This record gives sequence, C-alpha cells and structure tokens, in this order.
Amino acid sequence: MNPSISAMKGLQLVTSLRDRVLEGGRIDGEEALLLLELDGCDRFDLIAAANRIRVAFHGESVHLCGIVNAKSGSCPEDCAFCAQSARHMTDAPAYGLLDEEGIVSKARATAEAGAGYFGIVTSGRTLDSPGEFDTVLRSVRRIRTELDIEPDASLGCITYEQALALKEAGCARYHHNLETARSFYPEICSTRDYDDNVRTVRNAARAGLDVCSGGILGMGESPGQRIELAIELCDLGVSRVPINFLMPIKGTRLEKLEPLRPLECLSIIAVYRFLLPRLEISVCAGRDTLLRDLQSMVFFAGATGCMIGNYLTTAGRSVEADRQLLEDLEVEIR
Ligand code: SF4
Repeated sequence: MNPSISAMKGLQLVTSLRDRVLEGGRIDGEEALLLLELDGCDRFDLIAAANRIRVAFHGESVHLCGIVNAKSGSCPEDCAFCAQSARHMTDAPAYGLLDEEGIVSKARATAEAGAGYFGIVTSGRTLDSPGEFDTVLRSVRRIRTELDIEPDASLGCITYEQALALKEAGCARYHHNLETARSFYPEICSTRDYDDNVRTVRNAARAGLDVCSGGILGMGESPGQRIELAIELCDLGVSRVPINFLMPIKGTRLEKLEPLRPLECLSIIAVYRFLLPRLEISVCAGRDTLLRDLQSMVFFAGATGCMIGNYLTTAGRSVEADRQLLEDLEVEIR
C-alpha cells in the first residue's frame, strides 16, 4: 500500500481510491480492507463512490437472472451452509433431475418475468450420469432456440469435455462458486478441494463459456478473507461474480451463525466493486432476507444485477415487487 494512502481517512481515502479505479488502476488487499472498515457517514461515501465506478464501467442499466433447482438434495458433499447436503437434517426438498419439459417451462416463466439469464442448477458434486447430462444438453438447446433468454448451467464440478458439450449446445455461461476464501475453505467443506472448484472454473473458461463464480459471505470468515475471495476471483478471470449472503438454515452446521447486518452487506458489495470494477456483480441469496428495506441500495453500492424469483431451497420475494423496485429506482433492465 502506498504510504500516503495509509495516512488518509474517510472521504479523502474513498475519493483517492475511487479516482485511481476510474483511471483504470487497481486497489490492493490492504487498501480494500481500509474501505471495508469504514462506518458512519464514511460508509455512505464509499457506497456513493462504488456507484460512480459501476456507472462508469457498466452504465445505468442492470441485469436480472433466475434459476431452477433442477435436481435437489441428497448431496454427499458436506458444505457447511447447504440445506441440500445429505449430512444435514433440513426441510429442503429432495428430488431427481426434472425432465426436459419441466426445465424449459421454468425458463419460459423466468423469461416472461423479464430476466435475461436462466440457470439450470443441480445438487451434487457432479452430474455424472450420461442420461442426466444429456437431459440438460437437450434443455439448453431448446431454451437457446425457443426462448428469448440465455441458458446457463451450474452442475457442480465439470470436465473440459462436458464444458465443451455445454458450449456447443448453446449454453452461455457456467456458474460454479468458489464458496469462500481459500484460507477459510477447510472450515466449510472437507469432501471437495478448493482446487476442484478452481479447475472447474478453468475448464469452463477454456471451453469458451462465460464464467460466473462467487461465493457466500457471512459464514464466519474474517474481513480479510472476504477480500481474499475477491482477489482470487479477479486473478481467475471470471466475468460475473454472484454475491450471496448467508441465510443460516436450520439443520445445517452454520444454523447458529449471526447473519450479516444490512450495512455490512452494502459495504461488501461496494468494496467488491472497487476490487472488480469491470466485472458484473449480482446479488443473489440473502438480498431480501438480510438487507430487508436496504435492498433497494444494492445497485447504488455497485451491483450490476440481481437474482429474481426463488433461490435454490428458499423462497425469494415476488417478481412483481422486484419489478416495482426497479421502476421506482428508474433503473432499466438490460
Ligand atoms: S453446495 Fe452443492 S456440492 Fe455442496 S452440499 Fe450443497 S448441493 Fe452439495
């Protein structure tokens, strides 16, 4: 960190780092940490500066995406946050892969709600069965040809060959979260290596898929580990970063964690915007539950999109309420 930066405080710090980012420069982890620690009026200066960066790099409009939980529950992995792990006693539904018609009809409803992207998400470490993978490929082809929405997939860890098959079927992007910082990951998952996740991200990118990868914040990681995740994503060259805020689910290992406060969530979005100025940042799980009345500020804190409709195992708010929110904010949908 530049010594002159470490002597700065509040608005002066925010303005100096904002101008550097607007001029095409980067901030480092220590500088990001200073921003993440801001509170009071300084926090709102941070948010306003993140909004300037968002508009400079992405314009005023935002994107919406929706997902279908195409295969739910009974997962052998032990991700601490997840209601779908077979090691957790939760109310999450368990069912096998939906058929092609079931997936396409969910995509149609998501397109009609105004979203531009539709993710086919399945539980489990991989989607190994060829029959299941073929169902996803056929669904992707139909969504691509029949509907005005881009098909995405999130099928766990995939090989390069699977990524290529998805790309050839018309899949626009692959979603695979790193979940958290490398240094905190052993606290979250013991059945899969961090590098398995990194390999999947690289396989998708090598096959020419746009890569959407982020994580879940508020799982007990330190502020420094929140920054560490953003820097890892930046170095991996992903193009979209979904930010999820942990909603502790009864029956999971993290059920007793205190959720992040709304202003903490906004600070994280803003600092991610400083660290990742050119990347799309979507706010997904936790937007309505954790941010409550402050959710309308996610775009002004630097997000360029959000997920609408239901999440994987929990209900989101109504699409009508989200459309009204965007109308009131006078924000256009891409
Ligand atoms: S996050 Fe995915 S891999 Fe981990 S337990 Fe849940 S469904 Fe399984």
